[in-house]
Amino acid sequence: MTEDYYDILGVDRDASQKEIKKAYRRKAKKYHPDSGSEEASEDEFKKINEAYQVLSDEEKREKYDRFGKAGIDGDFRRRARSQGFDDIFSSFFGDIFGGSGGRQKNLDLSMKMDITLEDAYEGREKTVSVRRLERCSECNGRGSNDPDSVETCRECQGTGETRQVRKGMLGRQIVITECPKCDGSGRMIDNPCERCSGEGRHYIRDEVSIEIPKGIESGQRLKVDGKGHTDVESGRRGNLIIAIEVREDDIFERRSENLFYTLKMGFSDAALGSKAEIPTLDGDVELDIPAGTQNGDVFRLKGKGMPRLNRRGYGDLYVKAIVETPTDLTDREKEILKELRQYEGRHKEPDKGFFQTVKDNIKDAF
Ligand SMILES: [Zn+2]
Ligand SMILES: [Zn+2]
Repeated sequence: MTEDYYDILGVDRDASQKEIKKAYRRKAKKYHPDSGSEEASEDEFKKINEAYQVLSDEEKREKYDRFGKAGIDGDFRRRARSQGFDDIFSSFFGDIFGGSGGRQKNLDLSMKMDITLEDAYEGREKTVSVRRLERCSECNGRGSNDPDSVETCRECQGTGETRQVRKGMLGRQIVITECPKCDGSGRMIDNPCERCSGEGRHYIRDEVSIEIPKGIESGQRLKVDGKGHTDVESGRRGNLIIAIEVREDDIFERRSENLFYTLKMGFSDAALGSKAEIPTLDGDVELDIPAGTQNGDVFRLKGKGMPRLNRRGYGDLYVKAIVETPTDLTDREKEILKELRQYEGRHKEPDKGFFQTVKDNIKDAF
């Protein structure tokens, strides 16, 4: 049994939303467990539902096209599969038919973009490829090049929706559904445009270049005006919204404009002082480690952090010293340390008592 979403719905890979919706309705009616048909199957129905939830959502469809099922969030798939029949039935009357009725159309296109810490430091220009709805170039959005073949739908008088009054528990309810005669377009076309099957719009691929500003952080969004979908009727264009995710870096930890780096050093370097090469996003710098550096001491490198978003200047880089106790000592090293131990008594500070010591170190312990 095939698991490909396009095969499940029986549509081509470049099927329009209209074709996908039609195929879904046809299949869902056939396989619905309550349909009374011979093919009725709960399993099949769930698969059809899952396939539709992905292919009807352009963002999910795009991920599926590129990465297969691995591209679709696991939680989402489980939800789509386990959705009860009540939900599905109400989605028949809600989401599916009500898609383009009187509601405000959402023409925005959203996507996620992963960038590196270096990208956020430098600020970069990137190009993204998006699939967005554009007014059909063949018929200029009319749905047909033959003006005589376009008529206003008589069923809905061109509104694209039908209204039913229902008496429910909460009183009178008006249920707005997409006109079944014209599929919500408000018009009937005898001789539809071949490019867009009469929808007046079709998907195009668009390469959009975006400017990633210096200092951007995870969770912030970029908006590119006019690069979302185009509404056929009004010509209005939505925007492209890009949610930025800055990947965790192997070297630095980031807290807004500041960076943190852990520097491991041997006991003798800490005691005698030394120099260390510290990586920064701007090239290595040399740091003087003063004699007597303690485990947990923090050095600040001013201006070596991240650029401030939309402001001048940079944050700082904090370097935390971790003094490592040597293990796997050679005999010679043991000898030296044993000799050193004889002198240590001289330098010991007066005992602060156990609890005071714990209090002093608590900052570093966590
Ligand atoms: Zn067309
Ligand atoms: Zn109609």
